[in-house]
Amino acid sequence: MERLVSLCKRRGFVFQSSEIYGGLNSCYDYGPLGIELKNNIKNCWWRSMTYHHENIEGVDASILMHPRVWEASGHVAGFTDPLVDCKKCKQRYRPDQIDTPVCPNCGGELTEPRMFNLMFKTFMGPVENQTAVVYLRPETAQGIFVNFLNVMTASRQKLPFGIAQIGKAFRNEITPGNFIFRTREFEQMEMQFFVRPGEDSEWFEKWREERMQWHQSIGIRAEKLRWHEHGPGELAHYAKAAFDIQYEFPFGWQEIEGIHNRTDFDLGRHQEYSGKRLAYFDEARKEHYVPYVIETSVGCDRTLLTVLVDAYHEEQAGDETRVVMRFSPRIAPFKAAVLPLVRKDGLPEYAKNIARDLMRSFRVFYDDVASVGKRYRRMDEVGTPYCITVDGQTLQDGTVTVRERDSMQQERVASSELRGWIDERVRYD
Ligand code: ATP
Repeated sequence: MERLVSLCKRRGFVFQSSEIYGGLNSCYDYGPLGIELKNNIKNCWWRSMTYHHENIEGVDASILMHPRVWEASGHVAGFTDPLVDCKKCKQRYRPDQIDTPVCPNCGGELTEPRMFNLMFKTFMGPVENQTAVVYLRPETAQGIFVNFLNVMTASRQKLPFGIAQIGKAFRNEITPGNFIFRTREFEQMEMQFFVRPGEDSEWFEKWREERMQWHQSIGIRAEKLRWHEHGPGELAHYAKAAFDIQYEFPFGWQEIEGIHNRTDFDLGRHQEYSGKRLAYFDEARKEHYVPYVIETSVGCDRTLLTVLVDAYHEEQAGDETRVVMRFSPRIAPFKAAVLPLVRKDGLPEYAKNIARDLMRSFRVFYDDVASVGKRYRRMDEVGTPYCITVDGQTLQDGTVTVRERDSMQQERVASSELRGWIDERVRYD
C-alpha cells in the first residue's frame, strides 16, 4: 500500500486534499492521471448500464434534497453507527471495527457506545436554525426514488426498468482510512431496477451475475473477487437480501459493491411521506402495485482503489525493478505514448503529427526526453498499454513499432492504421 500511495502522488493519480495546509483528514484530490482513470471507470459503468440496456435510463439528481426525503428513507432516525471514545487519548472508534475492550492506540478506557448520525448537516438560506437544516446526501439512491415517476413518464418505460446515476455522497464516517477506501466525501455509481413483486428474486440473481462480470470487464482479476452474503443480523431494515462483492486488498477482504433487494420499502415510504401515489399500473394484469427495487451500488473511488491495487506489479528486469500498472486498456489513463526514437532527422515532427491525429480519439502522451528505454519505463509505471515508436524505417515505409506494455512484444503497424488498431483494443463494448 505504501508504495502504491507514493506512486499515486509522484505520478499524479491522487493527492492529499489541501496538502499545503497540512492536509484535511480523509479527503483526497485526483490529479491529471487520476481523473482520467476515474472518468474511464465511470464511462465503463455508464455504458454497461445505459448503453447496453434499453430499459435503463440515466439521471443526475441534486445533492441537496428536501429534508423530508431523509425522514422517509430512515436516515434521520437510523443512519447511525455506534461510537466509542478513548477517555485518555480521545481517539474515536466504531466498536465493531476494533477487537479489544480498551483503546487500541493507548490502552486507555473506552466510553459506553453511543449512536452517531453519519449525515452531514448544513443550512439552506441566510438563517441558521432548525427549519433551515438540509443534509448532504449520504447516498445517491434517494435522488432516483423521488424521480421514479418523472423518469418513467418522460422515457415511456414500463416495468421492469432501471435508473442509473453517478454522483457524490457524503458520510461523516467515524473511522475513515486506508487511503481512498473509506472517505467522508466519495462518489457512488448506483442503479435501481424496478420490478414486479414476485419477480424480484430472479432479477436479484441476474444483477448479481452481471455486476460480478462488470468488475472483471474492467480488468480486475477474478480470483481476487468473492461474494459475501449478509446474514440476518447484518441485513439493513429495508432489505430482503443483500450480497457484497468483496476484493482482497492488502488490508484484507473488503466490500466494493453491494447488491440489495430493497423490496417496496423506499417507494412505499416516499408514497407515505409525500402523499403522492407511486404505484405502477400494470396494463397486462390490470392491477396497481408498488414496484420492488433491486439496487446495485458501487463506490467509484473504491473501484479506483481496487484497480490501482490490482494493477500494481513489480517485476525484475535485469538488475532493475520494473513497476508496471497493468490496467485494462479500457480504463488506462493514457491509451498510448508516441515516442520518436531520437530527437533528430525529422522523427519528432513525424511523431508529433501522429500524436496530434490520435489525440482526437484518445488521451495520448508525447515524450521525446531521455532514452527510449527510460521512456518505456515511465509509461509502464502509469499503465500506458501501447508505446508507439517512430524510427528511421518510419520515414521510408510509414510504419511504426508498437510495444505492448505487459508482454513487451513489439510489432510494426502502418501509421495510417494506428487509430483503428488502438480503438479495437481500448473500446468498451
Ligand atoms: P460500510 O458498512 O463499510 O460503512 P455500507 O455497507 O454502508 O459500507 P453501502 O451503503 O452499501 O456501504 O454503499 C455502497 C458502496 O458505496 C460501497 O460498496 C462502497 O463502494 C461505497 N462507499 C460507501 N461508503 C463509502 C466511503 N465512506 N468511502 C468510499 N466509498 C464508500
